[in-house]
Amino acid sequence: MSAAQTALVVGGGIAGPATAMALAKAGIAATVYEARPDGTDDSGVMITLATNGIDALRALDADGPAVAAGFPTPGITLRNHAGKRLGVTSTGRLADGTVSHTVRRADLYRALHDEAVARGITVLRGRRLISAQEGSSGVRGVFDDGSSAEADVLIGCDGIRSRTRTLIDPAAPPPQYSGLLTTGGYASGLTGLAPPGEYEMIFGKRAFFGYATAPGGQAWWFVNVPRPHEPGPGELAGVSTAQWRERFAGLYAQDAGPALEIIGATADFAPLWPIHTMPRLPRWHSDRMVVIGDAAHAPSPTSGQGASLSIEDALVLATCLRDLRTPAGAFAAFERTRRPRVEKIVKAAARMNSSKAPGPAGRFARDLILPVILRATANAKSLREVYEHHIDWDATAGSLS
Ligand SMILES: Cc1cc2nc3c(=O)[nH]c(=O)nc-3n(C[C@H](O)[C@H](O)[C@H](O)COP(=O)(O)OP(=O)(O)OC[C@H]3O[C@@H](n4cnc5c(N)ncnc54)[C@H](O)[C@@H]3O)c2cc1C
Repeated sequence: MSAAQTALVVGGGIAGPATAMALAKAGIAATVYEARPDGTDDSGVMITLATNGIDALRALDADGPAVAAGFPTPGITLRNHAGKRLGVTSTGRLADGTVSHTVRRADLYRALHDEAVARGITVLRGRRLISAQEGSSGVRGVFDDGSSAEADVLIGCDGIRSRTRTLIDPAAPPPQYSGLLTTGGYASGLTGLAPPGEYEMIFGKRAFFGYATAPGGQAWWFVNVPRPHEPGPGELAGVSTAQWRERFAGLYAQDAGPALEIIGATADFAPLWPIHTMPRLPRWHSDRMVVIGDAAHAPSPTSGQGASLSIEDALVLATCLRDLRTPAGAFAAFERTRRPRVEKIVKAAARMNSSKAPGPAGRFARDLILPVILRATANAKSLREVYEHHIDWDATAGSLS
C-alpha cells in the first residue's frame, strides 16, 4: 500500500470543504460528494466558530470569509431563572486578540463551501453515498444517482447520520437522544437587551434559554427544552409555531430573563427538533475509509465545539495522510491523535446538558457552586486547552496533539 494521492470526501457541510482544502494543501486531490441537491442546509440557528476552529482555518488561510460571516462573542454570561448573574465564562482569545465568533449555521456552510470552490475544488451535489468497496489499490464509492467514483481513500464527513460510519463498521452505535429539544431564531426591534457581542445564557426553571445580540441589535436565540423520551418521527413537525409559542409561555413564565419577549418578537421559527450526540465509536477507520467530525464524535451543541472540532480534524487528517506511508497508518495516527481531545470535550458537554433544568435542590446547589467554579476556572488550563489548541501544520504527523 502506498501513500494516498486522491480522496473522495463524502459530505459538504463543515468538515467536508475544510478537509478538501487541507488535502489540497497537502498535495492530495479531493472531490467533495454532497447528498443535498442544491443550496445549503438552512436548518439550525447559530453556531460558535470557536478560537480553536478559527486558528485551524488560519493554517489553511481560510479563516477570513468564515469569520466575516459572523460577529465576535468573547464570553458567555450565565444567569439563573431570577436573572441573578452567576458569572462569565470565556470562549477563548488567540494571541492576536481574535475571539470566538457566532455565525448563522447556514452562513458558515456557505462561506466554507464557496472558499473551497474558489480554490478549484469540485463539489458534486445530489450524490448521496450508499455503499463502498475497498480493495488493495483503492476504494470505490457508489452514490444514489447510480454514479460511482474511485480514489485512494474515502473520508466520511457525512455528519451525525453518517453512512460511511456503518460501511466501516456495520455494528457502529447509532446517535443517541440527549434528552433535550431545541429550536431558535432571530428577533428584531427590541430594546434593553445585552449589548452587541454579548452572549447571555439563562438557566430557566423549566427550560434553558440563550441569546446573543448581533451588531445591528437583532437577538439570535435558542432554547433547550428537557424532554426525557425521544419524540417519534414526525411527532414534533405537526406542532405549529403558534402552539410552540403557547408552550414557551408556560415554560418561561416563571423566569426573569427576556426569553418570552425575544420569542414574541420573532416572526417565525422552526418546530423544535431533538438533539442527538454520538456515543463513543469503537472504530473510526478501516484500511481506506475514515470518519471525521460529527460522523465520528458529534458533541452536544452545548459544547460550542462541533464545527471547530470538525475543522481541527480536517487539518490533522491531512497532515497524517501527507506524512505517513499508507492510508491505514495515517488513519491510525489520526485516531490516536484526536480521540483523547474530542472525547474529553464530548464528555464535558454531556455533563453540562444534564444540568440544564434541575429540580429545586439542584438549582440551589448550582447557584451556590457555579459562581465559585466560574471564578476559579476563568483562566484555567482546561479552558485554554479547549480554546487555544493549536495545530502546527509543519510538524510531522504523530508529533501533533
Ligand atoms: C439539523 C442540525 C442543526 C444543528 N444546529 C446547530 C446549532 O444551532 N448550533 C451548533 O453549535 N451546532 C449545531 N449543529 C451541529 C453542527 O452543525 C455540527 O457539529 C457541525 O456542522 C459538524 O460538521 P460536519 O461537517 O461533521 O457535519 P455536518 O455539518 O452535519 O455535515 C454533513 C454533511 O454531509 C452530508 N451528507 C450526509 N450523509 C451523506 C451521504 N451519505 N452522502 C453524501 N453527503 C452526505 C449532509 O447533507 C451534510 O451537508 C446542528 C446539527 C444539525 C444536524
